[in-house]
Amino acid sequence: MKNGGYKLKELGKDITLLYGFAEECCMYALKGRDKVLLVDTGMGTGDLKKALGAIAPGLPYVVVNTHGHADHCGGNSQFRQIYLHPGSYADADRAEEGKKTLPAEIEVEGISKYEWKKLPVKEGDIFDLGGKTLEVIETPGHTPGCISLLDREDRIIFGGDLVVSKDHCTHMLAYVEWFRFSTVSIETLLRSLEKIAARADEFDFILGGHDAFLLDKRYLYQIMDMCRSILDGSAEPFHPQLDPHYGSIICWKLESADTAILYHDEIIFDRGATE
Ligand SMILES: [Zn+2]
Repeated sequence: MKNGGYKLKELGKDITLLYGFAEECCMYALKGRDKVLLVDTGMGTGDLKKALGAIAPGLPYVVVNTHGHADHCGGNSQFRQIYLHPGSYADADRAEEGKKTLPAEIEVEGISKYEWKKLPVKEGDIFDLGGKTLEVIETPGHTPGCISLLDREDRIIFGGDLVVSKDHCTHMLAYVEWFRFSTVSIETLLRSLEKIAARADEFDFILGGHDAFLLDKRYLYQIMDMCRSILDGSAEPFHPQLDPHYGSIICWKLESADTAILYHDEIIFDRGATE
């Protein structure tokens, strides 16, 4: 299979999008002089090592998960070790368990599988690829362990699902199928967005986990405004309960022109907050 079964697209200098199965996330291979870094592993619907070999023949690789959702770390078992935030360990373990129930058509034959080892990342860690560096920024919101990676040389931030355009929800159910809500409050999400926005002079675009194109950083401000309107009670969300996808759990969806936030009344404010 060509490129391990993935479609590859150059999005910038030494930034390649790997795109596979429709439901899985966008993965990005970032090539430096000495190493290539893979952002997320999708659902493991292709041969990721073969794809990396086509993108950067002969270069060693490091693999990082932006968070532990099944559509971002499903290909982890193709590697021996993965960098991710400890706040994502439980999600990643659940995703690994959940893989056992996936439909057979997205299983790939003939790829070695490993009991992959978790390597922790934290705020300020740097991946030096040679001429390209990625800085880890902790951005809890969509999940507790979400991280973003700042590529200062290319002025791009890889945000995972921190910021996504309308078809996917920022701050969402951790597992839509099982109606488990994110444990992260809108307050925390807003703090993460503000943290990223405070560094907006270091990047121009966001490459998200579900948008195969460069998102303008103005999305940040739009989502920040939406979070503020949820927190101050002025938001006018709607109840997507009529969609059977969301079952009978009462959650709210706030949509703007370009994006959406899905949330639950009980996790708007930080736990322990008195107001
Ligand atoms: Zn996600």
